[in-house]
Amino acid sequence: MTIREIIQPDNPVLRQKAKKVGNFGKSLQTLIDDMIETMRAAPGVGLAAPQVAVSQRVIVVEPPQDEDDPMSGKLYVVVNPEIVRASKEMEEGVEGCLSVPGWAGMVSRHVSLTLKGQDRYGKPLRLKVHGYVARIFQHELDHIDGILFIDRITDPEKIWPVPPAEEAEAGEKLEEAAPVEQGMR
Ligand code: ZN
Repeated sequence: MTIREIIQPDNPVLRQKAKKVGNFGKSLQTLIDDMIETMRAAPGVGLAAPQVAVSQRVIVVEPPQDEDDPMSGKLYVVVNPEIVRASKEMEEGVEGCLSVPGWAGMVSRHVSLTLKGQDRYGKPLRLKVHGYVARIFQHELDHIDGILFIDRITDPEKIWPVPPAEEAEAGEKLEEAAPVEQGMR
């Protein structure tokens, strides 16, 4: 496994709509293993293939353990993910992004959603998630459509710079959609 470089918005791949995966062969397996290692090394709670400059519809999500949520504390690999159903109810929460270092903001997301997609070997899968886990999935799903969390913030008061020192200190809780108010990781 290799830690890959996480690209920033100056690289146009981050803004492309990623392609559907059709081949579940060796190069996809290597990509997924590298994405898991890259996410953990960052550290982050999620990563989408476009963030490592691969324009394919692949995401990895690893929400920290939360004893109130049985969907937390697990590693998810979803290929060709799609939202099947999303709650009308929305919730604001703090997000950051490994591809947009130095910034955090308040983003409104669906409270719960049902997703479908395929596992790393092409087998269909379906997931029901809510709260923080649902937030991470929505953040990563946006990435495969070329959307960044900053695009979803219209009120300039809801986005703020995070000084590098503070970012290092805040560490994981500001990376990839981790909400500060929940004090995760
Ligand atoms: Zn991100």
